[in-house]
Amino acid sequence: MIEMAKKQFKAESKRLLDLMIHSIYTHKEIFLRELISNASDAIDKSYYLSLVDEKISFNKDDFYIRITADKENRTLTIADTGIGMTKEELENNLGTIARSGSLEFKNDNEAKDGVDIIGQFGVGFYSSFMVAEQVTVKSRALNSNEAYMWQSKGAEGYTIEACEKDTVGTEIILNIKQDTEDEKYDEYLDEYRLRNMIKKYSDFIKYPIKMLTKKSKLKEGSEKEYEEYYEDETLNSMVPIWRRNKSELKQEDYENFYMDKHFGFEKPLKSIHASVDGVASYNTILYIPAKAPYDFYTKEFEKGLELYSNGVLIMEKCADLLPDYFSFVQGLVDSADLSLNISRELLQHDRQLKIIAKKIKEKVKSELLAMLQNEREKYEEFYKSFGRQLKYGIYADWGSHKEILQDLLMFYSSTEKTLVSLDEYVSRMKEDQKYIYYATGESVERIDKLPQTEMIMDKGFEILYFTDDVDEFAIKMLMNYKEKEFKSASSSDLGFESDIKEDEKQIEENKALFDFMKEALEGKIKEVKASSRLKSHPVCLASDGELSMEMEKVLSMMPNNQNVKAEKILEINTNHEMFQAIKQAFAGDKDKVKVYANILYNQALLIEY
Ligand code: ADP
Repeated sequence: MIEMAKKQFKAESKRLLDLMIHSIYTHKEIFLRELISNASDAIDKSYYLSLVDEKISFNKDDFYIRITADKENRTLTIADTGIGMTKEELENNLGTIARSGSLEFKNDNEAKDGVDIIGQFGVGFYSSFMVAEQVTVKSRALNSNEAYMWQSKGAEGYTIEACEKDTVGTEIILNIKQDTEDEKYDEYLDEYRLRNMIKKYSDFIKYPIKMLTKKSKLKEGSEKEYEEYYEDETLNSMVPIWRRNKSELKQEDYENFYMDKHFGFEKPLKSIHASVDGVASYNTILYIPAKAPYDFYTKEFEKGLELYSNGVLIMEKCADLLPDYFSFVQGLVDSADLSLNISRELLQHDRQLKIIAKKIKEKVKSELLAMLQNEREKYEEFYKSFGRQLKYGIYADWGSHKEILQDLLMFYSSTEKTLVSLDEYVSRMKEDQKYIYYATGESVERIDKLPQTEMIMDKGFEILYFTDDVDEFAIKMLMNYKEKEFKSASSSDLGFESDIKEDEKQIEENKALFDFMKEALEGKIKEVKASSRLKSHPVCLASDGELSMEMEKVLSMMPNNQNVKAEKILEINTNHEMFQAIKQAFAGDKDKVKVYANILYNQALLIEY
């Protein structure tokens, strides 16, 4: 026999493969779920083609997955009648790992033994190396007469050569590892164990998963003697999970399905299952993930739900089903009202799809709101991951989504010392309180120390802390909530009437001094004025106009920034002893006042930035 030239795996694949081979992962059994799910996807592809292409026809019975365990030879075979792979596809699909992001994300430290990667991503085909010392893939592609065999013992590489295969599809033969002291592999050849694994992970696969099983019956003519025979048995129930009755399903079923689909890498926070009849009829399973995927807040992230027409997958990521602000939602929609052949362009304008998308949006909103009200801890976990996305949503499209999103917002509260909703804030507002107050800064600790917040807190008013870049932009778009206007703690007018009178008096008395200080600061500020908002601090900066200092900071960090500036006002605490010193200086040594003005300005800047 000719020695085949060994080909090397791509670097990333090799690393993943190493992880698999040496894995101490405790749920090795998931390899079967991964292989069955690949097989099912491959059949999906053939099935779909048979529906849209007249030249391709199949019988319903042509589609199945077969599991064969051979204890003597220690092989487990997973065969499917799906679309198969050409030589090039074998090379491309099995020589490189598709989900490369998983490795970028989980760098070295955490993923040493691979536990994280496997648990969090599910790694498809390569997981077979957790239980097999050699993997052989024989495949014949649809419309091809040639078959090829891919074979690998792991890290040192793989071979591809022509082989015999009578039928279209793929056969994966695993040479199961020998039992060791700590690890048991024999069980993956055990019919009973395999049966349980399939029931647990792959029950909802649409195509029959068949296994030849040993049965016994009374021998003909005998009343005591039994004979053994083999019978084909279908091990899965085949009804897709979204078509099943909610009452039959357990939380665990939804979670397994989520993992099976690789929707996310941790148990989802919530699963939503709905069957809707009406103007548009559809079944849907939606998930709210617990954590944002590593690329969620990047341009690379692709939102969308799987779209099925009567059980046939027609699109893997239908973006039109989800608004951007709910782009974290995972799941699928199955509707009989959609045509199989529909193109992406037509789909966008499809009336049914629009109705479904609207309903899904409303459903997600109401589920999130219910979570906020009834499952606070869960909601906070959700909000940590995706709150920012909701806030972007408020800001986007000129605020046109604020109605649907505003009740879902939460901010840290100065009085409650935890996240609160706007509704909760407003319900706690005092009788004489005109505004919803907020203060911006990079952390709760920094905001706590801002001089601007002192007086508001003294008056016993609650302040919302904005620590996310997007917060203030979102709130400016919102403008008000339940008819209450938002007011920045750094705003020059906080709406306290009696204090304004007092300030005005001071400003008048010290007009010459304040003007002189403004001159001394040479255009850095718009105005110097007295402020009774300050208690212990001598100065602070306030902003006038639409653009706050925080917003200026955020904007200045953006690419091609316009160098816009907030209008700053230097506010002076006229009750502070420092002010008496300046007053004295102003009566004598004016140069000293210049120096003071600059020191004060810089001090105020320091607190602010
Ligand atoms: P994933 O399924 O997430 O893409 P895998 O590593 O499991 O990652 O598989 C890589 C690719 O190999 C699949 O996308 C598919 O194109 C192909 N493949 C795997 N198993 C089969 C199969 N049984 N039949 C046809 N193609 C397959």
